[in-house]
Amino acid sequence: MGAPLPPSRQLKVAIIGGGPAGLAVAIELGKLDFVDWKLYEKKPAISEIGTGITIQRNTWRMLELMGAARNLSAGDFFRPESGHETQHRNGRTGQLIGQQRPRADTPLHRHPCRVYRAKLQQALLKEVDHSRIRVGRKLVRVSRLGDENEKLQLFFEDGFTDEVDILVGADGIRSVVRNFAFPEHRIKYTGAIAYRTVVRRDEAMKINGLVPVATFWHGTDGKWIYTCPLDEHDFEITTRAKSPATAPAGDEKGGEHVSWGRDAPVEGFVQFYREMASPIRQLLGLATYVQRFDHFAGPCLRSVVTASIALVGDASHPLSGAFGAGAGFALEDAYVLAGALRWARGSGRPASGGLDLFDKARTPHYAALFGLLDESAQAEREMAARGPVTPDDEIRHRVENSFTSGRDWVYVYEADTALKELIEEVEGRSNTLSSAEPSASSAKL
Ligand SMILES: Cc1cc2nc3c(=O)[nH]c(=O)nc-3n(C[C@H](O)[C@H](O)[C@H](O)COP(=O)(O)OP(=O)(O)OC[C@H]3O[C@@H](n4cnc5c(N)ncnc54)[C@H](O)[C@@H]3O)c2cc1C
Repeated sequence: MGAPLPPSRQLKVAIIGGGPAGLAVAIELGKLDFVDWKLYEKKPAISEIGTGITIQRNTWRMLELMGAARNLSAGDFFRPESGHETQHRNGRTGQLIGQQRPRADTPLHRHPCRVYRAKLQQALLKEVDHSRIRVGRKLVRVSRLGDENEKLQLFFEDGFTDEVDILVGADGIRSVVRNFAFPEHRIKYTGAIAYRTVVRRDEAMKINGLVPVATFWHGTDGKWIYTCPLDEHDFEITTRAKSPATAPAGDEKGGEHVSWGRDAPVEGFVQFYREMASPIRQLLGLATYVQRFDHFAGPCLRSVVTASIALVGDASHPLSGAFGAGAGFALEDAYVLAGALRWARGSGRPASGGLDLFDKARTPHYAALFGLLDESAQAEREMAARGPVTPDDEIRHRVENSFTSGRDWVYVYEADTALKELIEEVEGRSNTLSSAEPSASSAKL
């Protein structure tokens, strides 16, 4: 890297949020010598709660490109030596009804694995310039300065203010930045909840019928229990269900609901899954604590960019954990955002051209992901229209329509290749247009 650019040529960027999305943006912007960035996190430290997360094939690809994959070693995560598989079982009978393996061309080092969320976060954090992180800074308000460059003024809870050229909202599903950028967009509590706990792996493996493989145990009414070792010592239990009648009420905006963890009574949790087969009931019986997470979701945004603002990670796609790849999507956003800004600067375009390119790359991708959710909802409606079905048929129908078919592309997607192709397309188009009248879109880019 050469000498730093004079301040007048630097692009001042604020990243709000130190989750996977914010850290990944920090890594990628750190590679651009024309960007002067700061990351603001509201918590007193860059930290993570919750249990496990799956690192999918697309996530591994991004971690490798970002240099963070080297910070995760085999002992940090769970992946069988023969490669990853996910089993889908009827949770009431234990019967195996479906199996997913990564596509055959997936190299073993990019097979999915299960890891503590905190370990993934640490792997990213090691690649970030810590001197640019500001913790304990909660963004509360944004205003436009009204100048021709569309600069923004940021206001933090402690009275601190900052002025930036670009604001990156990486502040999660309840994003303050999204509220400012797209005030008409709403997320709401979906009525679904997750319970999460961890038990000792050696104790879990004593239960007849449990194997060290990622397994969904499906019940009726969309209920499931996901079981998987997390590492050599720990075994994860994550469940999903519609909110039990005993849960606190809360309005539709989720007034009393929390998106990220609060302690729940163990006894109620175990009772809630009493329809499940014996191995699962025994497993839940090992739990000594449980945390409850309420699911929030919202519609697909028509754009992830508005003047001088880009949304990344859960802030840009309130998918509520669907596809088990949200961290991967966050990393893809970060990679594409930085690549698009690099391209804009390198080709003499304004930064807004980079933001437009980012939007062109990511918005259709999210639209396609939301399309998969629409297909699942349609399958549910079709099942309801058929009239009463047996619990076993209900479970099989749901697994076949919402879990095991037609979703491979989500995990083999290559955001870097997609960006490269998009740039070629845009440049090809602007070359073709260079002898003709410039169009509004090419002028913007
Ligand atoms: C039940 C469930 C299971 C999931 N399983 C998987 C999985 O297996 N694999 C996977 O890849 N993904 C999974 N996901 C999705 C994944 O957890 C998210 O997509 C990912 O954490 C998004 O990262 P993020 O950085 O966008 O947001 P977050 O992780 O929410 O980080 C946002 C950060 O912004 C900070 N912040 C918020 N507001 C402000 C503010 N005003 N000022 C300053 N800082 C602020 C927060 O403190 C936080 O640190 C799951 C999600 C759920 C709900």
